[in-house]
Amino acid sequence: MGFDTKAVHTGEEPDFVGHPSGDVVVPIHLSSTFARLDVNEPTGGYEYSRSGNPTRFALEKKLAAIENAKFGLAFSSGLAAETTLVLSLLKAGDHVVAFDDLYGGTRRLFSQVFQERFGIKFSYVDARDPELISAAIQDNTRIIWLETPTNPLLRLCDISKISDIAHKAGALVVVDNTFASPYFQQPIGLGADVVVHSTTKYINGHSDSIGGALITSNEELFKALRYNQNAAGAILSPFDSFLVSRGIKTLALRMERHEKNAIAIATYLENNDKIEGVYYPGLASHPQHDLAKRQMTGFSGMLSFEIKGGEREAQKFLSNLHLFALAESLGGVESLIEHPATMTHASIPPEERRKIGVSDALIRISVGIENVEDLIFDLDQALKQI
Ligand code: PLP
Repeated sequence: MGFDTKAVHTGEEPDFVGHPSGDVVVPIHLSSTFARLDVNEPTGGYEYSRSGNPTRFALEKKLAAIENAKFGLAFSSGLAAETTLVLSLLKAGDHVVAFDDLYGGTRRLFSQVFQERFGIKFSYVDARDPELISAAIQDNTRIIWLETPTNPLLRLCDISKISDIAHKAGALVVVDNTFASPYFQQPIGLGADVVVHSTTKYINGHSDSIGGALITSNEELFKALRYNQNAAGAILSPFDSFLVSRGIKTLALRMERHEKNAIAIATYLENNDKIEGVYYPGLASHPQHDLAKRQMTGFSGMLSFEIKGGEREAQKFLSNLHLFALAESLGGVESLIEHPATMTHASIPPEERRKIGVSDALIRISVGIENVEDLIFDLDQALKQI
């Protein structure tokens, strides 16, 4: 079945048996608990909504289907999903090798919470070079944690090469697939063990729900994740599960438009003399353009660029914009723009940011689905004023 067909139908097949209404959209099951006919067995398979809820379950089936995997779980945020994953797989003394260019909140969770308070160790390496991953693996390495493309520098890493290296060393591979979305990249098929999403972004797509997901085809792993999802309790609500399911139905259409607009904007910026450099995997000038073509089926709608000058010019440009909202987050239908050094990545110490390459002149755009001529007009008038 094609991606777009699964996105519309999976988990929402009309129910003529349980609730013979023939709904074509899964109902929002608000019940926190479920009555049973027999004391020994939950009658409809559900006991209590933290452990399982029909609306969330429908979404979890859809999430697994669109990643071409077997099992999905939905959480109350991307970071809640990540926390549950760490709780499920790691203990004090274990070691993780992670891409050094990760979402700032993921690094904060690793460094300030799991390393400082729970004794889990993290090494950060430039995963663009798989050799650096090999070199960082230790006897106690349990996970290789990747994001590709990365936030905010749009760097890529080779999922299949790194999965081979990890599996030979007995480690699992986690890929945060938020930036590409399952429409453009399916890491499980490339060898990854678990996919993480902030469904807040492209998957929901309308900037009106915070959520997260874990997806895997490994049944043993799934059972551990589901156990800890219930034990720790960071589940997605029924209403948000409905919103995310609804968002997924248009994911294919939205991603096509995000990408088309992003290619046009990246090309415009690359040819503007007030811009120092553009980071977008769909540009032939991106150093990993070939890997992007091999590993992804499209380049998504995220890009970043360096403005000539520094923080002063970046801030002046941002305050000149009318159509782009100056806001954190990404992946919604509306275009958003932000300054990573003072916004999304402010929790990373400045010297660490500089080491990775997140400069004070860096600006990140989440390209929306509006008319691209309007978007370019707005960027152009704002650049002309600095
Ligand atoms: N992963 C990536 C790549 C992100 O960009 C974000 C949030 O911006 C997260 C994870 C965390 O997700 P959430 O904000 O839903 O907790």
